[in-house]
Amino acid sequence: MITPSVAAHAGHLPADDLPAYVYDLAALAEHAREVRAALPASVELYYAAKANPAPQILKALAPHVSGYEVSSGGELAHVRDAVPELPLAFGGPGKAEAELRRALDLRVERFHVESENELRLLADLADERPGDDPVDILLRVNLPVGDGELGGAALAMGGRPSPFGLDPRRAEECLPLLRGRRLRLRGIHAHLASGLDAAAQLAVAARVTDWAAGLAARHGLALGEVNVGGGMAVDYARPHARFDWAAYGAGLAELAARHPDVTLRIEPGRALTVHCGWYLTEVLDLKHSHGEAFAVLRGGTHHMRTPAAKQHDHPFTVLPVGEWARPWPRPAALDEPVTLSGQLCTPKDTLASRVPVAELRVGDRVAFAMAGAYAWNISHHDFLMHPAPGFHFLS
Ligand SMILES: *Cc1c(COP(=O)(O)O)cnc(C)c1O
Repeated sequence: MITPSVAAHAGHLPADDLPAYVYDLAALAEHAREVRAALPASVELYYAAKANPAPQILKALAPHVSGYEVSSGGELAHVRDAVPELPLAFGGPGKAEAELRRALDLRVERFHVESENELRLLADLADERPGDDPVDILLRVNLPVGDGELGGAALAMGGRPSPFGLDPRRAEECLPLLRGRRLRLRGIHAHLASGLDAAAQLAVAARVTDWAAGLAARHGLALGEVNVGGGMAVDYARPHARFDWAAYGAGLAELAARHPDVTLRIEPGRALTVHCGWYLTEVLDLKHSHGEAFAVLRGGTHHMRTPAAKQHDHPFTVLPVGEWARPWPRPAALDEPVTLSGQLCTPKDTLASRVPVAELRVGDRVAFAMAGAYAWNISHHDFLMHPAPGFHFLS
């Protein structure tokens, strides 16, 4: 599960440079190339920057993606600066007026409009710029999805009451608001859930695209774009597994054939970058408490909140370190379950619970896999004021 270059790097880093995030940019580029190759050429692949917005990651993806989805004024300025050559789609609920103005200043290519209020505000701001081209928008809709379609969804954001997107009936009622305004309705956007496998993703994509085609037909509109969102599943319990891009690509090809006038777009985040990063640290202490083994690691969930946020045991590899310089016996767990915790003074600072290990000793290194997305950037860095990790981007 750990790539050779990351393993080599992990072996050379001095202990004082731990913890560290280590990213394998070559592996990332190869993965993105495979994903792109599995998709029909007509499907546009956007990367949802919130999964991991590090400039090195954005740049490594650039040759393989058509654009980036950004969800705040901060992200859009950052991503525009890192990869100015590619288009941006600006989504997210609760866009402040200043953010919309910034997006207009930066000539963001697509706005994903999330409400009627946002549509009216954007139309007014566009009117203030009569010299600019009309603003290209997609309406984000919260479509109902059939029972079972979102079966295993980890995080459903649509298909039920939610702050995201427009109720489909409201979306329909928004259409008259566009008349005579400097907004150009290009199509429909939906991001209904995270953690869907390829079959569930395809069911959602078909639902969204068919609904958009119905809307276009009812109102005599040319809706040339349908963005069916991200949320491709990854499985933290099976770090070798990958989302089935081949099946998804084949299904999208069939969908595209049914809708020849529509450009389909997808915007995965996690499934693109999660596999390219490792959180590398070492065992500071190891003890047995009331019959159970606990390894206390340098760092913790303030650097990698993922297992706390998702309530899972984060997958890891033990990298044994031979030497032991102290005069007392080296604390160790042998052939038993161990709980891996961090340095924070809270029982919530747990990265993996009661996971069987052959051997784990003070001074051994531990590499947590699947740390390339929603890891550092979702964590509460300042809690307890421990030092920040290092960041290493291997190319
Ligand atoms: C978060 C998000 C994505 C990416 O989701 P992943 O689960 O990381 O693939 C895509 N689109 C929107 C609108 C999002 O909010």
